Amino acid sequence: MSFEHVSFSPDDVKFPEHHFVGGEWLVGQNKIPVFRPSDGYLYAQCDDASDDLVHEVVLNAKEGLATSGWANWAPRDRAKVMRVWADLVERESVALARIEALGSTRPIKDAVAWDVPYTAETIRFYAELADKHGGKVAATSSSLLGLVIAEPIGIVAAIAPWNFPLVMATWKVAPALAAGNAVVLKPSELTPFSVLRLAELAHQAGIPEGVFNVVTGRGHTTGKALVKHPLIGKVTFTGSTATGQLIMEECAKFGPKPVTLELGGKSPQIVFADVKDLDSVAATVSRAILNNAGQVCNAGSRLLIERSIATDFIRKLKRMASDWVVGPTWDSSTSFSPIVNKRQLDGIHSAVCDAIAKDAECVFGGKVMDEGSGGAFYEPTLLSTSDNTLAAVQHELFGPVMTVQVFDSEQEAVALANSSNYGLAAGVFSDDVHRVLRLVKQIEAGNIWVNRYGRSNDFILPTGGFKSSGIGKDLGVEAFEANLRHKAVLMGIQS
Ligand code: NAD
Repeated sequence: MSFEHVSFSPDDVKFPEHHFVGGEWLVGQNKIPVFRPSDGYLYAQCDDASDDLVHEVVLNAKEGLATSGWANWAPRDRAKVMRVWADLVERESVALARIEALGSTRPIKDAVAWDVPYTAETIRFYAELADKHGGKVAATSSSLLGLVIAEPIGIVAAIAPWNFPLVMATWKVAPALAAGNAVVLKPSELTPFSVLRLAELAHQAGIPEGVFNVVTGRGHTTGKALVKHPLIGKVTFTGSTATGQLIMEECAKFGPKPVTLELGGKSPQIVFADVKDLDSVAATVSRAILNNAGQVCNAGSRLLIERSIATDFIRKLKRMASDWVVGPTWDSSTSFSPIVNKRQLDGIHSAVCDAIAKDAECVFGGKVMDEGSGGAFYEPTLLSTSDNTLAAVQHELFGPVMTVQVFDSEQEAVALANSSNYGLAAGVFSDDVHRVLRLVKQIEAGNIWVNRYGRSNDFILPTGGFKSSGIGKDLGVEAFEANLRHKAVLMGIQS
C-alpha cells in the first residue's frame, strides 16, 4: 500500500463510544470528555464506568467463559478464530488507523504502516503459540507419575496506556486470550476508541461473547474497581511507575493476585568513538527519541557519548531534528507527533526550564511550538549536562527531550548507564564486538539493542524492564506463560 494518500478529514471518522461487554455495546452514564492531541478539540466522550458497572462487566466475563467453554476449547480452535481476527484487523486497517490517528499522538502514516499491521501480527503470533505450548509429564519413578498441567487463570484485567493504544493493549490481550482466559480491558481514558473497534472485530471473528470485553473509564475509578474485583485472577498493566506501584499494592491487598507491570524508562543510548558510520548512528539515535515525540516507554532519552566524537555527533543530531514534519495526525505528510495534552506539555517544559536554570545547556529546542492549531507540540530538544542528578536526566519526561552526557572510558559509560532507577532498555553503538559483549553483560536493562534501537517484529523476543521499569514481560513465550497457572499432579501406579 502507498502511504502517501492516507490523509483524512477528522469529521469523517466513525468510532464506537460505549463499553463493549458480552458481545454488545453497553451504554454508560458518567461521561468523560475526550480531546484530540493535534488541535485540542473536544471531539467525543467516553464513559467513566462505576464500580457497579465494572462488577456487571466482570460477571459478563465469568458468564462468557462458562457458556462458551473458551478455556476448554482445543487450543488450535482458539488459534483459528484468533487468525480470523487478525485477518479482519488487516482488512479494516485504514479505518482502524484513522480512529487511532484521530484520537492519539500517532501520525496516520505510521498508524497505517506500523500500528495496525503490528497489532494483527501480535494476534497471529499468539494464535500460532496457542497449540504449541502444553504442560509436562514428569515420570518420577516406577510407582509415581507426575503431571504439570498448564491451565488458564480465569479472568485477566488488562490496563493500558495512551501511547500506542492498539499495540499496547494487544500485547496484553492476545496472549491472555490464546491461553484460554477471558479479558476485561480498560484502555486509557485519553485514547479509548480504537480498542473498542478491536474488540468488536474479535467478536465478529468468533471470539465468544463475554470473552473479550472493553470497559472505559478513569484510572482511580474504573481501573481501581477492576483491579480489586474478587473475580479478577490476574492484572496486567502498562503505564507509569507510580500507577504500577499503586496497582501492585491493590493486588497484594485484594489477592494477592499475580501482576505484570510494564512501566516507565529513562533509557541510555551509548555511542563509542569506534563506530564507523557516524551518520547512520546519529539517524538511529535521533529517531529513538523523536519517534512519537518521545512518548515511547523505551525512548532513548539519555545520550552517552565518547568525548572525541561528541561535537561532530551533536551537530548531526541538530541537523536531523529539523527533518521532522509537524502537523495534525490526520495529514499524511506529518511525521512529528503532538504531545498527548497540555498537562503533559507543561510538565515537559517545566523540567526543561528547571534543567537550564540549574546546570544544563540547551543545545537546541527547549520551547513549546506554536504552530497555530491549538495542539500541544514541543520542539525536539537536546540538553547537555554533566550533572547526573538533574530531574531531566533522572526522571521520565515522556517528550522529545534528550540529555547528552560525555564519557571518557567504558567504565564511566557503564556507570552512567546504570545510574538510573529505571532499567527498561539501552542502545549500545560500537563496532568492537568484545566491548559490546562486555556492555551487554553489565547493563541493567530488560532490552538491549546493539547498533540499532527499538524492537523489530520478532515477537519471540519478550519486552519488559528491570528495577523501577517493571515486573514480568510482554511478548514472547514469557507473556503467554504468565497467563497460565500450573497445577502439579502426582499419581501412584500400582504394580
Ligand atoms: P498512567 O499510569 O497514567 O495510566 C495507565 C493506565 O492506568 C490508564 O489506563 C489509567 O487510566 C490507568 N490507571 C491510572 N491510575 C490507576 C489506578 N489507581 N488503578 C488502576 N488503573 C489506573 O500511564 P500513561 O500516562 O497512560 O502512560 C504513560 C506511561 O506508560 C509512561 O510512564 C510510559 O513509560 C509507560 N509505558 C510503559 C511501557 C512498557 O512496555 N514498559 C509501554 C508504554 C508505556
